[in-house]
Amino acid sequence: MKNILDLSLDELAQIVKPNFRARQIYQWIYQKYADSFEQMSSIPKELRSELAKEYDLSPLKIVRTQKSKDGSIKYLFEARDKNRIESVLLPMKEEVSDENGKITRHARYTICVSSQVGCRMGCSFCLTAKGGLTRNLSAGEIVGQILAVKKDNAIAYERRVNIVYMGMGEPLDNLENVAKAVKILAENDGLSIAPRRQTISTSGLATQIKKLGEKDLGVLLAISLHATTDELRTRLMPVNKAYNIEAVMQAVREFPVDLRKRVLFEYLVIKGENDSLSDAKRLVKLLHGIKAKVNLIYFNPHEGSTYARPEPADMLRLQDYLSAHGVTCTVRASKGLDISAACGQLKERSKEII
Ligand code: SAH
Ligand code: SF4
Repeated sequence: MKNILDLSLDELAQIVKPNFRARQIYQWIYQKYADSFEQMSSIPKELRSELAKEYDLSPLKIVRTQKSKDGSIKYLFEARDKNRIESVLLPMKEEVSDENGKITRHARYTICVSSQVGCRMGCSFCLTAKGGLTRNLSAGEIVGQILAVKKDNAIAYERRVNIVYMGMGEPLDNLENVAKAVKILAENDGLSIAPRRQTISTSGLATQIKKLGEKDLGVLLAISLHATTDELRTRLMPVNKAYNIEAVMQAVREFPVDLRKRVLFEYLVIKGENDSLSDAKRLVKLLHGIKAKVNLIYFNPHEGSTYARPEPADMLRLQDYLSAHGVTCTVRASKGLDISAACGQLKERSKEII
């Protein structure tokens, strides 16, 4: 069986001619959340049964969900070949003021998706790194995570969601499929998630950052920096041997960024490793001249890890220093801590439970 979610609108239009048929099918899949081809009542019966013989509509099966006290929901999916991946739905309240200045609160959704089964980057703090890389996800398996999460929560298709490629895997190690997923997700007859609502997070594959920039998709870029010296960064992230901090920063400087947007720098804070004032000082220097935003992340401990969660006071000191020096900075609220919603953790635990 082929996965119909793997098809771009153009590819589908070549199969089901004419063009408007492809649009209709996209609408059935991504806007009306059809569960079967049979349901697609505006499509000729013959075409429906032909498609049903060849294509699969839901390539991912929900194996398990876990709801956190803070409202985030973690999904464990099983692909056709039995490999497992995970995604997280993060609902957030957003304050919006209307034309009279009245403040209302809206639910805003962010979905965190995986790009690979496993990862070969080997970061020492990351659970996903443990088993290495099994395989890349196809574009349709990436799109399928978002479709399944929206469907499962009955989130109407026109509700805006943000996508972050921060689940399992290194998105730029699977650039072609990720780029295709970005385009499928952005399709107006589909989920209509504009590229500027999609953030690709990378451990810093400089050559691939350049390639992503050349594609000019309009996505946002996030860099997992985590350290301000090559010595420490190499210890945390072996990929730093191939692309050191300077190489990453150079690739960032050359990346096309929307004038209204910034590059996001993720900085995983680990107790006693990178949480000192000197780290904050070096970070400010590194970001000089770059339109950057820093996200400080509390290290989320997992079994077998030798690192520890930083003290809130040290976190605050980093944040204060950055803010005082003009660097926009947020501390990532530890969403889903009770369900281990960081990278790779549900999958690991599910081995014991299921
Ligand atoms: N491979 C990409 C995207 C997936 S990882 C990347 O590394 O950027 C997404 C984020 O989760 C990264 O910033 C990573 O550093 C972070 N992460 C990994 N393990 C973590 C842990 N134990 N606690 C908190 N964040 C973690
Ligand atoms: Fe891979 Fe990102 Fe985990 Fe590093 S942090 S091993 S790049 S998923």
